Amino acid sequence: MNVDDMGADLERVLLTEEQLGARLDEIAAQIDADYAGREILVVGVLKGAVMVMADLARRISTPLAMDWMAVSSYGSGTKSSGVVRILKDLDADLTGKHVLIVEDIIDSGLTLSWLLANLRSRGPASVEIATMLRKPEAAKVEVDVRYVGFDIPNEFVVGYGLDYAEKYRNLPFVGTLAPHVYSS
Ligand code: 5GP
Ligand code: MG
Ligand code: MG
Repeated sequence: MNVDDMGADLERVLLTEEQLGARLDEIAAQIDADYAGREILVVGVLKGAVMVMADLARRISTPLAMDWMAVSSYGSGTKSSGVVRILKDLDADLTGKHVLIVEDIIDSGLTLSWLLANLRSRGPASVEIATMLRKPEAAKVEVDVRYVGFDIPNEFVVGYGLDYAEKYRNLPFVGTLAPHVYSS
């Protein structure tokens, strides 16, 4: 799907496919340097992290296994509920593993704080976080996010895995929606 196909739904493009890819090249190189000689268990948080997981994992040379977790913190609207629920747990045992959580976006950081505590309680050797996007609110959360793609303004964004009412996840770029989409 491209900008033209989105027609009137899109307000503006915040990050192009090229920008996202170039940043992932840099992050993957950093990850390879940091994890040299080790193996990684990359944990993708469904559904939003599907795109970044696929694009980041393909750029990493370090041996890795992939696992997925689904948690719910947002409904179909645009406000955080503050409630985190496991919809699908990991298949892997985390004992002794170097876990790298891959996230689409950190907003309030509520989901991430909860996830970190949860995964750390399972006896991993290490847990780090990589997120494609980070909003200003996230600065208030006292968690160390090792890899950040882009710091973005406090706006609701869609595309590159991120949805509005389950739509727009397949956009190859990150953009904002026109106001009429929310109100209709
Ligand atoms: P947090 O718990 O950090 O507030 O938010 C975590 C989750 O909320 C993200 O994984 C994502 O699913 C959703 N979210 C937060 N901000 C946005 C946004 O701007 N757009 C979309 N589509 N989802 C968001
Ligand atoms: Mg997420
Ligand atoms: Mg969502």
